[in-house]
This record gives sequence, C-alpha cells and structure tokens, in this order.
Amino acid sequence: MKEKIVYWITGSQTLYGDDVLAHVAQHSKEMAAYLNRYLPVTVRYLTTCKSSEEIEAAARRVNADSRCIGVILWCHTFSPAKMWIKGLGLLQKPVCHFATQYNEELPYETIDMDFMNENQAAHGDRELGYIIARMRVENKVIVGHYTDMGAIDELSSWCKVAAGLAFSKTVKVCRFSDNMRDVAVTEGDKIDAHEKLGWQVDYYPIGELAEYIGAVTEEETDALMEEYAQKYTMGTDRTEVVREQAKYEIAIEKFLKDKGGYIGIVDHFGTLCGLNQLPGLAIQDLQSKGYGFGAEGDWKIAALGAVMQYMADQKGTGMMEDYTYDLKEGLCLGAHMLEVSPQFAATKPEIQVHPLSIGGKSDPARLVFEGISAPEAIAVSMVDMGNRMRLIIQKIELVKYPRKMPNLPVGGLMWRYRPNFKDGVAAWIYAGGAHHTVVSSVVTAQQMIDLGNLWGVEVVVIDENTELNAFREHLKWSDEIYRLK
Ligand code: MN
Repeated sequence: MKEKIVYWITGSQTLYGDDVLAHVAQHSKEMAAYLNRYLPVTVRYLTTCKSSEEIEAAARRVNADSRCIGVILWCHTFSPAKMWIKGLGLLQKPVCHFATQYNEELPYETIDMDFMNENQAAHGDRELGYIIARMRVENKVIVGHYTDMGAIDELSSWCKVAAGLAFSKTVKVCRFSDNMRDVAVTEGDKIDAHEKLGWQVDYYPIGELAEYIGAVTEEETDALMEEYAQKYTMGTDRTEVVREQAKYEIAIEKFLKDKGGYIGIVDHFGTLCGLNQLPGLAIQDLQSKGYGFGAEGDWKIAALGAVMQYMADQKGTGMMEDYTYDLKEGLCLGAHMLEVSPQFAATKPEIQVHPLSIGGKSDPARLVFEGISAPEAIAVSMVDMGNRMRLIIQKIELVKYPRKMPNLPVGGLMWRYRPNFKDGVAAWIYAGGAHHTVVSSVVTAQQMIDLGNLWGVEVVVIDENTELNAFREHLKWSDEIYRLK
C-alpha cells in the first residue's frame, strides 16, 4: 500500500502576503512528512492553492496520477471557497478534509492579529466545508492535531478505504458457474456492479479449468504439497486425494493469471464437470493468499471478499455463511461446505478427507480448524434490491467454541450478534441480508461505511445502537429515497 499516494493540498489565498504563504507551505510540508511516517500509504505535500486556476491544475494532476488514491485537504488560512468550485467539480479521487492545525496549543502570552491571520484553520475549514457540502462531494472529515494518535489512526483507516476503493476498480471475478438454480440472494446486476463498484465478472466453462488441471506436473504438485506440510497438519493418509486439491490450486492460480489477472473465484458444487472433488483445500489455501471466493455462483461475495482482504492486508478476513444457531447461548455457528479461509484459524488447520453428502462427487480434502475469537468483528453482505445495491454491515463478536465439536468436518467461526441475538438476527433479516457474508476481524464497520459511501451504494448498519423499530423505519425511508432517485 505504501506505493499508493495521498496528496496533501493546502488552501489559502494571496491576501496575507508572501511571508505568510512561505510559512503555510513550510508547515504543510512538515505536517505531510510527519504523517507519512505513520500512514500505510505515501503522503506527499502537493501545493498550496491560492486561486481557482491553481486548484483546477492540482485536481488535474491528482486525477492523472494513477498512483494517487486520494487527497487530504486543509485550510491553514482562510481560502475563499468559490475558487474551489471548478477544481472540486473535476476531482475524481476520494477527499479527506483534515480539520487540523499546525500549532496544538494557543500561544496565550504572545498571540496577536498576525498569528490569528496566519493560523485560522477553524475559520478556513468552515468555508471549504460549506462548498464541499453544497456540491455534495463525498468526503471524510477527520478532526485533531496532526500528531494526535487518535487522528492518525482515523487517517490510516481512511487511507485503507481510499486504497480499497482504487483496488475495487481493478477487481475481476472469474466464475466457473452461474448462480445456483432457484437461489435469489446471490443474484444481482453485474453491469451495475461493474459501473458503480468496478467489478468485472466473467464466466469461463469449468471444462477449460479441467484442461489446466490435467496439465499440472507431478513436480509442481510436490512443491505445493511441501508448502501444505509446512503450514498444515496432515490428518489423512489419503495422499492422492490431497494431491488432487493441490493440482486444483495450481491450475486455478495459473488460469486466473493467464486469463488476465482475476482476483475473485466463483464455483458451484453442482457444476463440477471434469473435476472429481469440490475444490476445498484448494480454495481455502487460495483465500489465504488474498483471493476472494464466492460459493454457488456468488460473484458479489467473491469481489467483496477480495476488496476486504486487500484492506485487511490478508488477515482475519474471508467468506462465511450463517449456518446454525445455538439459541440457548445466543450464538451462531458459521461455516461452509468446505471453503472456510484458514485466516480464521485459531488452531493449526488440519487436512482431512471426508465424504460430502451433497453434489455426488468424490470425498474432498479440506482444512479443519476452530475459529478465532475477536471482540470486534464485522459480517458484511451486499444484496441487489432491484434499483440499487445495499451494503449491510453488522458488528459481531467472534467467540471461542463453547464446547468441542469433534464431528464437525469443516473450519468455522462462532459469534454473537450486535446489539443482541434477537434484534441482531431480526435486523439482518429485515434488511434482506444474505446467508453468504464476508467476515473480518481486521476491517472495521467504520471503514465499510466509508467505502459504501464512496461506492455510492445504500449503507445499512446493525450495531450496539440498533433499535429494531427505528431500524425498520430507517429501511422504509431509505427505500422511499431510492424510489425517488
Ligand atoms: Mn453457500
């Protein structure tokens, strides 16, 4: 991510004279350099803008720079905002309005009007804020001194969102199957997703993948088996079954690269023509490398998973499915037929081979483990409401398995819903949230809210403050707004 650039642009005007402007530029450089030490992307001071022409020129430079994922705007002095109108109209990168100041404290003993004129962010930021609000520019406001760790954390978090947005525009999903027959929630408008979210979703016959699998050499398979042996415990002596999954993984990765850099994979247990097993271990290990996966044709989850994994630096993130409840404890056990990401493993994953009761194929190899616990995690779903995409974000708490489940032949997670079991489950169902989600213990609810706003999709949040009747009312109002759009 450090290869990505966020440009720092300072707003000012010519009224204060060259001495003040020299200070403004010097301070801005210093502040950007300070932040660059802490933020996950490169922060670079671009310019201090004093006229409409300069702001337009800055916007064009930012737009043209493919490494640039966003801009931080700040007004050291007062900067009349009519001169921002043309530039903001042109700007195509996410905006963070950083309401900060060079000095942290007031110099009570020495303060005079010269100091006031040079240091008036409180004044200048309001003028800029007005025009951003008036022009409906989607922006993130972060408040605090530039050395304050709380503000720096918020900036870090926003930088990952901005980088996630840029990444989202590059996401390509390879689907080896259409959606599962009769299933509704995994459907969606792929053109709309391509236009709004940047997701390119393409179909390839699984027979073409079968040819790639046939071409994998024994030496390549040996090398991946060696990797498996390093990372996982071998809990089976059916080596040939495991080797077959290794071949799937090698073939899928090669296929995705050859076809033009796909980062999302979609398959379906019912359309495996030419494959003996459902890819389990193969998909699990691919998710550990950052690939997004969607089961049963679910391309939205594959793309969302790839984006969230990128933002999470490939940690604690992957496809999940709400499976079965413990109503007594108020818990949900999430898992899938096989494909749970080892990023969720609390115990060393073990390679096991068991029959799969659905699909009519050979017994597949898969990784089995207990899931991690995390006090703050999220489950995220993207559903097509017919006239817009709805992003549903639910805060959950990942918990340790209360008891051993020795016969559970898959990896899994257990969690508590926010605000509580009953309201959390009801709110999710009222919102039309899917059974497939992307769960993350690294990406935060705030980041997904900010990303959803940048995407321009409807954002629905279920958290500790959710009150069910107000939530249902919110859904109704939101629906009316989109009906009018
Ligand atoms: Mn499923």
